[in-house]
Amino acid sequence: MKKAFRGRMCAYCSTNPASTGDHVIGRKFFPESLRDDLPQVPACPECNNRKSEYERYAMTVFPFGSLHHAAQEMLQTQVERRMKGDQSLRHDLRNGRKNAVGMTSDGSAVTTSALPFDYDKASGLFLMIIKGLLWHHLRSPFPRDYVIRLFPLTDQGLERFKKCFLSLSPENLQREALADGAFKYVFTRNRDDPFFTVWVLDFYDSLNMCGATERGELLRVHMTAFTGPAQVDHIADVFEEKLMIQ
Ligand SMILES: [Zn+2]
Repeated sequence: MKKAFRGRMCAYCSTNPASTGDHVIGRKFFPESLRDDLPQVPACPECNNRKSEYERYAMTVFPFGSLHHAAQEMLQTQVERRMKGDQSLRHDLRNGRKNAVGMTSDGSAVTTSALPFDYDKASGLFLMIIKGLLWHHLRSPFPRDYVIRLFPLTDQGLERFKKCFLSLSPENLQREALADGAFKYVFTRNRDDPFFTVWVLDFYDSLNMCGATERGELLRVHMTAFTGPAQVDHIADVFEEKLMIQ
């Protein structure tokens, strides 16, 4: 473990002592040439294991959802091997594949092929990534009584989210790109409370994650989040209905 992490609390649970360093965005999401300089944080064994589980899933499934060169390279070189190591996931992806009507960002309908998506695993991973990135920027564990809320938003919802929330505290707005833009994030934090934050996360330059509307159309979603004290839950509840797919 890095010297800087010795004696530190786990960045993910803020409870257990860390015993290892963990790459916040797992190295194997990216081709070897793009793996330098990925942020690392202290982690306990339990959180490290749980995150690895989420990552195993995401590293196999996410590359299908993007044309970014890093995703395409992983698809061609790694994904088949990863599926061989996880027959049940391979089975679910093969059997769950179906044709679907998708909407492009300009609003036209296209027929596409959709894979089933385990939102619980993906959101579990995104929650841990946000905590890890906060530790990376603030060098301090996430307060245990604080909350994180994720919002998968459509293109339109994302625009409103940016206008309403990402525009707060513009002096603290930070835009980061890791692994040649294969993972990007934007966040801003409240000037008085560094853990009161707003996020937009982007795997492989716009991952084609979709949510289905009541009419069965697939709409592309972007992963966004708030973190903050307990009242964030209330703000989130108020906006959730307005911003998320109905
Ligand atoms: Zn932990």
